[in-house]
Amino acid sequence: MTKRILILPGDGIGPEIVAEAVKVLNRLIADGLDLELEYGLVGGAAYDASGQPLPAETLAQARAADAILLGAVGGPQYESLDRPLRPEQGLLGLRAELGLFSNLRPAILYPQLAGASTLRPEVVSGLDMMIVRELTGGIYFGQPRGVRILENGEREGFNTLVYRESEIERIARSAFEIARKRGRKLCSVDKANVLEVTELWRTVVKEVGRDYPDVELSHMYVDNAAMQLVRAPKQFDVIVTTNMFGDILSDAAAMLTGSIGMLPSASLDANAKGMYEPIHGSAPDIAGKSIANPLATILSVGMMLRYSFGLADDADRIAAAVSNVLDQGLRTADIATAGQTAVTTAGMGDAVVAAIM
Ligand code: NAD
Repeated sequence: MTKRILILPGDGIGPEIVAEAVKVLNRLIADGLDLELEYGLVGGAAYDASGQPLPAETLAQARAADAILLGAVGGPQYESLDRPLRPEQGLLGLRAELGLFSNLRPAILYPQLAGASTLRPEVVSGLDMMIVRELTGGIYFGQPRGVRILENGEREGFNTLVYRESEIERIARSAFEIARKRGRKLCSVDKANVLEVTELWRTVVKEVGRDYPDVELSHMYVDNAAMQLVRAPKQFDVIVTTNMFGDILSDAAAMLTGSIGMLPSASLDANAKGMYEPIHGSAPDIAGKSIANPLATILSVGMMLRYSFGLADDADRIAAAVSNVLDQGLRTADIATAGQTAVTTAGMGDAVVAAIM
């Protein structure tokens, strides 16, 4: 059956990097994959065209699509807008409206780029782990929240960390399914020794684990996980954790690889419908210069094929092509080291397409 992909290039370097990912998609279509591409507007581009960062038409397109490929949103020209009109609201709106509760953030370090990490090459070379972050619950959304004035006149800020059993169960299931598609090891990160909510988290993850006897489940406190991530990150295959812990740990894990232009991400709903995007932003400082690295966006296409369409072999073909161009010594400016000549955004995209076997 035809899979419909909604392409949302967005702002800044978004259209440049998405154009290269579309070349890859078109190559796969030429090879016989039954994919249909449709374009839409989101973020600043949508605001410029219609006065809204997430127009109703885009939302309808997103609902009808089987998967979404997004470039990036945002730019300095939009920063003075009222909050509901800002480009980021387009992204948040899509996540909320589509119920994309499972955020997948891989940290992959191609051995060819081991020198780009701040950690010693032997600690990170070949790193390939995945953080599954709960994205629509927890302390970022819990009520009550706010800042109030106490009787003595002092100000007090408060937020609420709350997870329902059903929310924990669905993110746990999502993570177990992902672990099954990878190395079959899942580490659930919590603070069960201090926080009752995450005591429940641990209990429910264990209960869900009974349905996945083929996945090795372990548990770790978040402070230890932070330490282990920089001490010996290759011990991890898949980590599942709460919204806030995942926010922090996934940034730390991403930076182990030292190359923001290389990392894809996915946000999935309960049926593995997903929105796929590079983890970086719209990079207004380099927009229009043809120097942006398109590999994170191209690898996001790989994640789409693997997690939404179940096309693991085609996902592997993309990963292999990316590895191949790195072997050839091709680098965009962000990952080039002294003495290496950088290729353009399009040069990199064309090289990946040529390397797809
Ligand atoms: P950024 O990720 O856009 O850029 C940070 C630095 O990394 C910049 O120096 C940039 O040139 C570089 N960089 C980023 N992607 C690159 C790539 N593919 N190739 C080469 N270099 C790359 O973060 P920022 O500068 O903090 O934010 C810029 C805008 O992006 C802001 O408006 C912000 O709100 C938005 N943003 C959007 C998203 C998203 O759409 N998901 C995420 C983060 C930030």
